[in-house]
Amino acid sequence: MNFRSFIGNPETVRQLQESVASNRLAHAILLTGPRGAGKYTLAIALAQTLNCTNPQTYDGLPDACDACHNCTLIASSLDLETRVAEAVQAREDLRDVDRKETRILVQTHPDVLVLPPDPPQNLVKVGQVRSLIQNIQRRPGEGSRKIYIFPRSIFMNEAANALLKVLEEPPEYAHLLLLTENPSDLLPTIRSRAGKMQLQPIPEDRMESLLAERRREWDADRRALVARLTEGAIGRALSFSPEDYMASRKDALMMLRGAAVEPDHSALFRMTESYRAGAEGQQKTQDLLRALYTLLEDVMLLQAGQGMMARNIDILPELRRIAEKVSFEWIEHTARHIGEVESGLRRNLLRSLSLDALAGQMQQR
Ligand SMILES: [Zn+2]
Repeated sequence: MNFRSFIGNPETVRQLQESVASNRLAHAILLTGPRGAGKYTLAIALAQTLNCTNPQTYDGLPDACDACHNCTLIASSLDLETRVAEAVQAREDLRDVDRKETRILVQTHPDVLVLPPDPPQNLVKVGQVRSLIQNIQRRPGEGSRKIYIFPRSIFMNEAANALLKVLEEPPEYAHLLLLTENPSDLLPTIRSRAGKMQLQPIPEDRMESLLAERRREWDADRRALVARLTEGAIGRALSFSPEDYMASRKDALMMLRGAAVEPDHSALFRMTESYRAGAEGQQKTQDLLRALYTLLEDVMLLQAGQGMMARNIDILPELRRIAEKVSFEWIEHTARHIGEVESGLRRNLLRSLSLDALAGQMQQR
């Protein structure tokens, strides 16, 4: 993944390339943008460019070759989900005493360290920042830079304070990339020490034409629906599975219809029963809850006379019927309850039970 193959946000890409070219890249960069906009992908492209042994140019500015030994090693960090799962598994396999001391880190190249939020709390912990502090003192290989990437910059207090110390005086060969959807997750003192860059959502018409090139198997309606649902996030759009979404949405719609119109108790029961425990069931439940959220948001938009902005554009008549039956308070209440089920899910509570409770609660209007 080099700058040349990055999709969207050409100004931000160019800005990064120019800072590399003029050797004025900030030692700390706060890169903000919505989920799926490509923050992590861009951070990896930058790490490759700074360490590439066969440097290229793109539009007259520095770029990585994406093929040399360094580029290949760094690119192995791109599949972050798999790398984090491996690190978590490795930690699980340790003895209790060692497990407490082991930090989740992803390092596929000696000069590039990725510090993801540590599960299950999903916050960056002080032990991880201490690993960075140790690592940053060792100089990089010749002609290289040391890159530290926080894919989701949300810190425990102690970790944030430790990071602040690093940001006060980073070594000249080091760059810290703080990625976030939400800059207010970070202490103002951290934000003020970082150069700011932003990725914008890709406009809907541009997204549709990108999908026309890359997802030829989808018809125009499907492309329009996916562009609408993924809200300008190219990463999400390209990995979007309309089939999975439709399956989740079908179940979400059954819950919504059961609450707003007429519950079919046995069908509802069969449906919630099909959501099992385990990693796969957790993902499936997560997807169902997300679909339910988007439906509720659309219902709210329809009630406000803003149907133009709704995302599930292929089922608007049905959503309109639901919008006529439910109150704003009920939508708010249900959205809050979905949030509770989601946080229960993260704490590994019984899934089908919480879905049943949710469906039951939705029927009390
Ligand atoms: Zn290279």
